[in-house]
Amino acid sequence: MNKRLLHVSTLAAAALLLAACGPAESPSSTNTAAEPAAASSNMVLPYSASVNADRIIAADEEPGNWMSTGRDYGEARFSPLTQINTNNVSDLGLEWYADIDTSRMQEATPIVVDGAMYVSTAWSHVKAFDVRTGRPLWAFNPEVDPAKGVDACCDVVNRGVAVWEGKVFVGTIDGRLIALDSTTGEELWSVMTVDESEAYTITGAPRIVKGQVLIGNGGAEYGVRGYVTAYDAETGEQNWRYYTVPGNPADGFEQPELEMAAQTWNGEWWNLGGGGTVWDAMAYDPDLNLLYIGVGNGSPWNQSLRSPGGGDNLFLSSIMAINPDDGTYRWHYQTTPGETWDYTATQHIIVTTLEIDGQPRRVVMQAPKNGFFYVLDAATGQLITAEKFVPVSWASHIDLETDRPVEIPEARYDETRIPMIVQPGPQGGHNWHPMSFSQRTKLVYLPATEQFMGYVAPENFEVSDTGWNTGTDFAAGGALVREAGDQAPVRSAHLLAWDPVAQREVWRVPKEVSVDAAGVLSTAGGLVFQGNASGEFNAYKDDTGELLWSAMTQAITVAAPITYTVDGEQYVAVLVGGRALPTIGAGAIGSTTTMSNNNSRLLVFKRGGTAQLPPELAEEEVSDTGNLNPPPMTADFETVAHGEQVYGRYCSVCHGPAGVSPSVGTFPDLRYSARLASSEMWNSVVLGGELESGGMVSFEGTLEATDPDAVRHYIISRAHADREAGEAEHSAPLQ
Ligand code: CA
Repeated sequence: MNKRLLHVSTLAAAALLLAACGPAESPSSTNTAAEPAAASSNMVLPYSASVNADRIIAADEEPGNWMSTGRDYGEARFSPLTQINTNNVSDLGLEWYADIDTSRMQEATPIVVDGAMYVSTAWSHVKAFDVRTGRPLWAFNPEVDPAKGVDACCDVVNRGVAVWEGKVFVGTIDGRLIALDSTTGEELWSVMTVDESEAYTITGAPRIVKGQVLIGNGGAEYGVRGYVTAYDAETGEQNWRYYTVPGNPADGFEQPELEMAAQTWNGEWWNLGGGGTVWDAMAYDPDLNLLYIGVGNGSPWNQSLRSPGGGDNLFLSSIMAINPDDGTYRWHYQTTPGETWDYTATQHIIVTTLEIDGQPRRVVMQAPKNGFFYVLDAATGQLITAEKFVPVSWASHIDLETDRPVEIPEARYDETRIPMIVQPGPQGGHNWHPMSFSQRTKLVYLPATEQFMGYVAPENFEVSDTGWNTGTDFAAGGALVREAGDQAPVRSAHLLAWDPVAQREVWRVPKEVSVDAAGVLSTAGGLVFQGNASGEFNAYKDDTGELLWSAMTQAITVAAPITYTVDGEQYVAVLVGGRALPTIGAGAIGSTTTMSNNNSRLLVFKRGGTAQLPPELAEEEVSDTGNLNPPPMTADFETVAHGEQVYGRYCSVCHGPAGVSPSVGTFPDLRYSARLASSEMWNSVVLGGELESGGMVSFEGTLEATDPDAVRHYIISRAHADREAGEAEHSAPLQ
């Protein structure tokens, strides 16, 4: 355990998070589809990234590369490499590392092909390295306006690039899709994929099917309408766009099935956006010629506000199959009809073949936020099985006769119901962190989190232009949890080995940090690799969960590892740096998170590697415990309570639950702010936009007149409370 990762033992109240033309130059392709795939990695020019459909389909024939985000089109994230195995994993050492020039959250899966590694980082930057030595080849900065950060629900993250025929593709946080030259990093084309007047963002990795770059977007916490678009990889021309939720019926329907979907909505949802964003998972089956996409939550979350009177609200929280040739509907399975808890079905989708009832069956597997592990027929979408993989209190089970969840009615929330603490919470039983399906053990390894939230309808709901529009009262939800005391559920996290055929747990490795979640890699060497929030990168035995190897990372890890070979030698790589997922609507005294000075890096290991990370800052240097010195408390209880509510909705996503920053050095911990001293100093930032170049946009026009000062008084009260409790055990802010 890395003792220099500092713990905060108190996390209270509302927290959020759970939770983007020029003609293409035609690079000369030295590897044509006619060449045998197995030999191609030896025949291509260095850094040519000459990935094509044949190579990805035959990914197992060149296991030394990692050519697409999930390694193969089925996205199993399982490597056939065996050189590093259970017998010798203890010899792994750091071979090279690269510092990342932003301390925001790092979520990307690197791509390795033809001697180069391509990785995206926070703020949608892209970097290329020589895969053998770590020598930087080029770096690309799309120069996103820092003010765009406020539209990102869950930090300005990017989960990876795609490569295809000499180009590297990245979606940017401001909604662009950009094609880069794989050898130079030069921009070849760029298209704006979203309406810039809406709060769309791109955080997911593009996928490439049949020469088309597929990209979705996020923003369902901000009132957008979800869709996925296919662009010609060569030119950037749009081929098709597929909407996941209906718009205003009066405007007609872009796709025929949206007319049917509109029958499952009420009210004027189109004015609220509807949600259903496709912000992460996609997979492809070349034999069935089906593209699978995961569809997100409703916007706002609260269905009673979004679609008064209920309805299934298709195609929210659904897994959908689309014909990639023309973007037409094939099938859907809705995991959470009438979604109201932020239960996205955007989580990792794996397409594989399982032996079910003695027969091989092509299946789609997903463990979405709602806590059930789903196995569906890949050709038809028919539900095969669904079982809970974490504690779930919104539904008792999935009825295999109706294919629908059997809901606990009290779990829904509107102004007429007594609010209830619901499991999972908006972080989900499983979030975006990729899982892995081993061909060796036939087990799925998934980062599971046991979470909950008190869901409370707000007294008033008004849509704002800046900040979240969830239709939930986070402060009241936090109070509900506090009132429950010992009766509230317990937060925890573990690496879960799950048998998808038997639908049962095989083993688990508990995590120290209750909100710990990080992507997973499994290998034919009998190993499962995963980082954690305690500053370690670990290898476990795939059949037992036994810890076989561990390395210090000097950072929280949330991204998924990969493995590859260079000159016949196997390497393992992982991007580190991040903040732990904050507890949402917690009010849960005693829940923990971890923080670090966030040493964002790319770490690359091999057997016998001897590289050393630079010495960490001593704890004293990063810690400033007990230095809280807030101005006197002068506000009344109502003002502070109002400030808590405003903070919960607009501030806590970045600045952390209860005013405690989850990543000091990245987001200032406001309890230490000298600007607490006066309304004028405070408002020069909150309304005046004085720190806009750093990403802190003006909330002028969003907040009511009395809001900023109420937040200031709330933070002052939090600082006093923590000073008295002697619990403010972490570093001072940078500013
Ligand atoms: Ca969401």
